[in-house]
Amino acid sequence: MPELPEVETVARDLQRWIAGATIVDADVSWDRTIRHPLPAERFAVEVRGATIRRVGRRAKSVLVHLADGRVMTVALRMTGALIVAPPGAPPDPYARVVFHLADGRQLRYRDVRKFGRIGLWEGGGLRGGLRRDGAGKKAVADPRSAYRIGEVFARHGPEPLARSFTAQRLAERLRGRRARLKTLLLDQSVIAGVGNIYADEALWRARLHPLRTADTLTPAEIRSLHRAVRAVLREGIANRGTSLSDYVGADGEPGANAERLRVYQRTGEPCLRCGKQIQRTVVGQRSTHFCPRCQALP
Ligand SMILES: [Zn+2]
Repeated sequence: MPELPEVETVARDLQRWIAGATIVDADVSWDRTIRHPLPAERFAVEVRGATIRRVGRRAKSVLVHLADGRVMTVALRMTGALIVAPPGAPPDPYARVVFHLADGRQLRYRDVRKFGRIGLWEGGGLRGGLRRDGAGKKAVADPRSAYRIGEVFARHGPEPLARSFTAQRLAERLRGRRARLKTLLLDQSVIAGVGNIYADEALWRARLHPLRTADTLTPAEIRSLHRAVRAVLREGIANRGTSLSDYVGADGEPGANAERLRVYQRTGEPCLRCGKQIQRTVVGQRSTHFCPRCQALP
């Protein structure tokens, strides 16, 4: 499932390739992909003629900002992908929504398992915080530039790569929580964008056992976790995301971060820090990987 680095990679690709493009038409071949407005035919009508001003990201959604202020949200969920196809590219049987661009290219929403959702919202849905100075490229290249959370993302926590997301802020969000660290990292209302892969990687990097409860962390351990979360996400972005199954960038190519994973799906392999075998356990129904020596329970 695409997490923050994968979605950020797609958003940056799209910013480079389709910012300024105009959508002349949209074909929806799987109605349930459309979350808003409904019915799906209405979505197609409303997106027709729109010009794409800028592409960004909030949590695990791609945000397509239109020139008239509306915002299209694309939640890729399990197997969704946004791919820019050149004119004349053969049709894709898994393309659930095809946006026809004025220059003959297509922006295709491909989704084998069909869990992803696309919404089109009035600008009021994502209030304020948007740059209007034409520095769109810069805004997307800088993951720290914050989007204000509107109704669509009201239940989401802060962006972990935002400048405002300090160790202090993480400490405030974890204070008094008796939930396990793995569970809290996956909770989108605590931090937005982290999923199973980067949660395991961050905990290994911070030398914290996934079953530790947040209220047992020392201030130094919270700082370490904060650094680790940001480091693994930045590294994931630098490697264009982790492709273990379906994920591809907007160029249709897999990311390179799978080779750089330290614990995730390395069960039985030696820990890259101490040599002990990586173990797998299940926390809240999610498979969880850790080093029993480096990440010992106190
Ligand atoms: Zn180890």
